[in-house]
Amino acid sequence: MNIEGLILDIDGVISRGRKPIERAIEGYRIIKELGIKTVFVSNNSTRSRRIMLERFKHFGVDVGEDELIIATHATAVHIAKENGSTKIYTTGEDGLKEELLNLDHEIVDYRNADYLVVGSNRGINFEIFTKALRLALDREVRYVAVNPDRVFPAEDGPIPGTGLIIGALYWMTGREPDVIVGKPSKIIVDQAIERLNVDRERIAIVGDQIDVDIMAGKNAGIKSILVMSGVTNQENYQEKVRQVGVAPDFVFEDLYELAVALSSGK
Ligand SMILES: [Mg+2]
Repeated sequence: MNIEGLILDIDGVISRGRKPIERAIEGYRIIKELGIKTVFVSNNSTRSRRIMLERFKHFGVDVGEDELIIATHATAVHIAKENGSTKIYTTGEDGLKEELLNLDHEIVDYRNADYLVVGSNRGINFEIFTKALRLALDREVRYVAVNPDRVFPAEDGPIPGTGLIIGALYWMTGREPDVIVGKPSKIIVDQAIERLNVDRERIAIVGDQIDVDIMAGKNAGIKSILVMSGVTNQENYQEKVRQVGVAPDFVFEDLYELAVALSSGK
């Protein structure tokens, strides 16, 4: 495969919700021993890196802040690149606010905002929707979505993703986000590639979802590897490939099987 850098999805690859996938953790250790650079990339729109790093510690995996890109942080970075320090109204939770503030953006009253940043909010209410609606109606305001996730596969079943808000705003205004940061957008993948500092040809993205991770790899022009430890399995693989219209370059049972293949130089 000739891989020197891996962009790793988190949910469905290293863990399922709060539970680590033990074989994947072992696989990750092998990958690190091989000297392959890694960066974890997550579409999560409610957590900060600090919160995620605590979770990794609980998994027994030692991950540094520079080896983790969450869509919340990637959004803050992208807005800083576009516009410098920016006045933002966000629908999001504290984790997203924390990352926006970390990059010197200002969280302001919606009347003073230049950017509308849409991230999931488990406490979304009529007032937040009203403010977001008014901003979406204002074409001067730049509308950024942290990720395009319609539904999130929680442990006890599907729950609404950021799509709850993006969908409602679209239905009310006909407007879609000007920018989407999370996978399958290449914005977050490009940030990960930059972080790895390895030739694009020697980087692969690893994930469990064809429409999210594999599509992100295609959009960014890098290799893609599907693992069957999450949303995609032997039963639904063909159907999903057909639906999405893209196929991964490689398929493995889980991160451990990928690590074994990499260590045998396949
Ligand atoms: Mg996943």
